[in-house]
Amino acid sequence: MPEKAENRVQWTETGLDGRNMLTIRCSACKQKLWKYKKLGPGEVLRCHKTRITRVYAYKLEGGKIKCACGQVIGIDKGKYFKMIRKAFTYSGTKDHKL
Ligand SMILES: [Zn+2]
Repeated sequence: MPEKAENRVQWTETGLDGRNMLTIRCSACKQKLWKYKKLGPGEVLRCHKTRITRVYAYKLEGGKIKCACGQVIGIDKGKYFKMIRKAFTYSGTKDHKL
């Protein structure tokens, strides 16, 4: 049985009990950048700093968030990072693992 699409939508949109954790990775080199607690449905357009729960690797240069490989992942806007959609990928932690 293939995974039902509606199951994915459900856990993404409800947020369940705050277990909607995403691992953000560089799309160029696949390096893990940080873990992010996402609230609400939809794309990751911004990452609020207060919801970054773990940092693996990134560097801040001239207001830009960069991967170690040099790829620009986003722009530092103060309270959040404005993300460049093509520069990163993310995967969610499904609640059944917890
Ligand atoms: Zn990279």
